[in-house]
Amino acid sequence: MKIVEFDDKGRRVESDPGSVPRKAAASALAPRPVFARSDAAAHQSQPRRRGASSGIELHMFQTGTLRTKLKYIKMNQGESDFEIPVPWFLIKHPLGNVVIDGGNAIEAAIDKRGHWGAVVDAYDPVMAIADNCVDQCKSVGVDPHNVRYVLQSHLHLDHTGALGHFPKVQYVVHRVEYDYAFNPHWFSKGAYIRADFDRPGLDWKFLGGEYTDHFDLYGDGTIRTIFTPGHSPGHQSFLITLPNSGPILLTIDAAYTVDHWNNLALPGLVVSSADAANSVAKLRRIAETTGATVVTGHDPVTWETFRKAPNDFYD
Ligand SMILES: [Zn+2]
Ligand SMILES: [Zn+2]
Repeated sequence: MKIVEFDDKGRRVESDPGSVPRKAAASALAPRPVFARSDAAAHQSQPRRRGASSGIELHMFQTGTLRTKLKYIKMNQGESDFEIPVPWFLIKHPLGNVVIDGGNAIEAAIDKRGHWGAVVDAYDPVMAIADNCVDQCKSVGVDPHNVRYVLQSHLHLDHTGALGHFPKVQYVVHRVEYDYAFNPHWFSKGAYIRADFDRPGLDWKFLGGEYTDHFDLYGDGTIRTIFTPGHSPGHQSFLITLPNSGPILLTIDAAYTVDHWNNLALPGLVVSSADAANSVAKLRRIAETTGATVVTGHDPVTWETFRKAPNDFYD
């Protein structure tokens, strides 16, 4: 079995499990220790990045981790413990700052069972209050009043942390996802926390029709949506193209981990396995065409390898 990953320049790197660093090979199967806190501590001690930025920056954050079981991430792959990061993203852009997803809502740090209900037995959030996306935006100098758009990949509970917390934004979601969130199938119900997205006064912008795919937010090719249903009905991934770092493909939950990317696993939560597989194939074609660096949605191994906020970013 070959493992395919992508380096900083978007080049494919293939390796056999035997040549993969032991940590990575073991981590694909075994539970991993919490790295959120220790990594955060490590980053705090690192010097801030120096040098001029291109003016467009992609900052990679996380709101802690979810403790779960392998089968809830990789379908039918067993009961062992599995812990995943909860990434979210901030793009600084001259036309306005953009948040993608925002991770868990702050309530998951304050009263997780009260806010999420019984789903915490399957997905247990390990999150500090300070991990909320508003405070983390401030840590890189972005005031919540200066965020113009929040893009929603989908509306599952680990992606809704920004909703209602940015006073002047438009929240961009696919119409199919929004409608489904109010009326999900029984098996998806636990993943949608209505209190997160059913709030008065949210300024929604719905994508659909001719704007279903490859919607270019600022018309300059920096931020594009890619329609990737399957894990949820209206899921969107994002192709971010930066002046120096080039294209970065944020698969979000269309491919939780590198195993999903490599067709070795289906999502533990899925509304259509066929659509999920087609969406991975679609993203792989885009990655091959553009040479994009691929960032999967919740991979505990590869997530550690990216440049992380607050001290570093891609530009
Ligand atoms: Zn999801
Ligand atoms: Zn997720």
